[in-house]
Amino acid sequence: AAMRHSRIKKTKTVCTYCGVGCSFEIWTKDREILKVEPQVDAPVNSISTCVKGKFGWDFVNSEERLTQPLIRKGDRFVESTWEEALDLVASGLQKIKEKHGADSIGFIASSKCTNEENYLFQKLSRAVFGTNNVDNCSRYCQSPATAGLLRTVGIGGDSGTIEDLQKSDFVLIIGANPAESHPVLATRIKRSHKLHGQKLAVIDLRRNEMAERADLFLHPKPGTDLVLLSAVTKYIVDQGWHDPSFIEQRVNSFDKYLPSLEKFTLDYAEEITGIAKEEIIRLAQMIHEADTMCICWAMGVTQHIAGTDTSTAISNLLLITGNYGKPGAGAFPLRGHNNVQGASDFGTMPAWFPGYEPVEHDEVRARYEKAWGVTLPKKPGFNNHQMVEAITKGKIKAMYLFGEDMALVDSNSNYVESAFEMLDFFVVQDVFFSRTARYADVVLPAAPSLEKEGTFTNTERRIQRFYQVFEPLGESKPDWVIIQEVANKMGANWNYQHPSEIMAEASKLAPVFAGVSYERLEGWNSQLWPVAPDGLDSPLLYTERFGFPDGKARLYPVDWTPPYEPGAEYDIHLNNGRLLEHFHEGNLTYRSKGITHKVPQPWVEISPELAEERGIKDGSLVSLTSPYGKVEVRALVTDNVAKNELYLTMNTTDENQAVNRLTSSYHDKITHTPNYKEMSVKLEIVEVE
Ligand code: SF4
Repeated sequence: AAMRHSRIKKTKTVCTYCGVGCSFEIWTKDREILKVEPQVDAPVNSISTCVKGKFGWDFVNSEERLTQPLIRKGDRFVESTWEEALDLVASGLQKIKEKHGADSIGFIASSKCTNEENYLFQKLSRAVFGTNNVDNCSRYCQSPATAGLLRTVGIGGDSGTIEDLQKSDFVLIIGANPAESHPVLATRIKRSHKLHGQKLAVIDLRRNEMAERADLFLHPKPGTDLVLLSAVTKYIVDQGWHDPSFIEQRVNSFDKYLPSLEKFTLDYAEEITGIAKEEIIRLAQMIHEADTMCICWAMGVTQHIAGTDTSTAISNLLLITGNYGKPGAGAFPLRGHNNVQGASDFGTMPAWFPGYEPVEHDEVRARYEKAWGVTLPKKPGFNNHQMVEAITKGKIKAMYLFGEDMALVDSNSNYVESAFEMLDFFVVQDVFFSRTARYADVVLPAAPSLEKEGTFTNTERRIQRFYQVFEPLGESKPDWVIIQEVANKMGANWNYQHPSEIMAEASKLAPVFAGVSYERLEGWNSQLWPVAPDGLDSPLLYTERFGFPDGKARLYPVDWTPPYEPGAEYDIHLNNGRLLEHFHEGNLTYRSKGITHKVPQPWVEISPELAEERGIKDGSLVSLTSPYGKVEVRALVTDNVAKNELYLTMNTTDENQAVNRLTSSYHDKITHTPNYKEMSVKLEIVEVE
């Protein structure tokens, strides 16, 4: 028995299923996962996890894993050696670069992969190929939140930690469903609310679990959050409930900002949002009565054509009430993917080097040129949305994408797929043969987190290390190893032996990571950026200064843009979002038996009134049609949703049920984030039961 026990290995890892960043030990014997054991030392979750963290790992041994490179031969894919595949990747990309220039290649990075892998990928794009056409999937989710914060407070991340959410007097959750999308973080709020007198308000289209618990639940008309928030802000200022000394000392442009609030009277807000004046006043009162307020938001705010402006309105409200820079207060855009924060932080963005320094800035570029020994492009590149458009115009001819199922997760997938068909050369690197891989010329097999080392950055800006549990399956390799091999095939001379060396390089170049190192991140230790050279990190931002040269925040006037409407025949609003049990497009969780037996397929939520009107029952098969496509899915009749509003769960691997068959190519004006949450559809019954 002792012998058998000694073969059990315990390895610390960090969960890859959401931005909360839980860490735990995984117990394994050979390639078998025995259990997941959270530890009190885990900085975010202590002894908790959710169902995904606990049961979501069987996919690593799935028979469907890619274990060898694949090369397209006509309509088929054939297995190849690494040598052959990498030669083809290098020669294919080189040919396009010579013929059409570096800017004819697009690079799509992965918010599921490590900081080090994202750092290397942007270095590959910029230093080896010479283009800033590199982006990651935060463009599909949280870019508007980042942009709203950069406008107002200067740093694009949560302003505090989960502990601040726990301590806060008042938490406002808007357009987010943390009980399903960020479960362990939601548990902290639930506990404070239940046991410690914390007040909770929820603004959402759907009566989700947090809305059920909330002291106040407001359901505005779709796409009108900005009006509601601005009316609350105006009411607070009108009552003299704002924080004049905070504004005086720490905030610029109050006088310029005030006139922008004028139109957001209670009457106007009631008319546009459908929320009664008394309710708007009640929300303002709750904010006034709280010494500290945190606002959490996610895709329900960002995935609109006014996503950046609404995020800005949130930050304005926090500034007006002095809710930055003190414990228990601040802005909390809840990051979806485990490393969506880190992918952007480490520079896979078309306009920014790691640490949000502009590529256009000569001094910054000179620093990177010196370190990398190359001349770098000055002009910002295409973002992923623009890349798709550029393919259809013949400007982008080749792409290299890793760890991202863009065909399924970008909006308007019929359009995206038709663009992929037009590429001359496409390299896809993933753990599974994803839907996007079907369009590839070369598919490179990657290793998931349990088969490599690295760091992830969670929603709090917390950088955490994880350690290797298994050897990569078959001939798959860690993404950083593959990226380095591609770079070297292209004539670079990279020689990273371990991800720690990549982090060491990034921390030398990007001031916000100055004191980040693998030694300081050993075991359960973590660091929240910005990190000073001596290793001092920043759990709470803005205690002294905001992220602008003069140290002051900026109130930023915004106006309301009505949401996109496809036309009168599409008469039912369609919302969408995650399920507790599944992660994103489901490539991993649908291959984890412990999860799939619980929730095998998606569904659409329909209100009892609408169901009755259309003769729909629980389990009926219904079709949803938009101007862009059609899906068929089973109905769930529930009063979670209001009369003419549907909610489609988005986690599916079945392309015929994917919400992005229906979504459009309209997007946020500033960041180009698609307006996934603004769609109306025709609803028809296919089969009663
Ligand atoms: Fe993983 Fe998020 Fe669940 Fe924590 S809350 S276990 S990070 S999915």
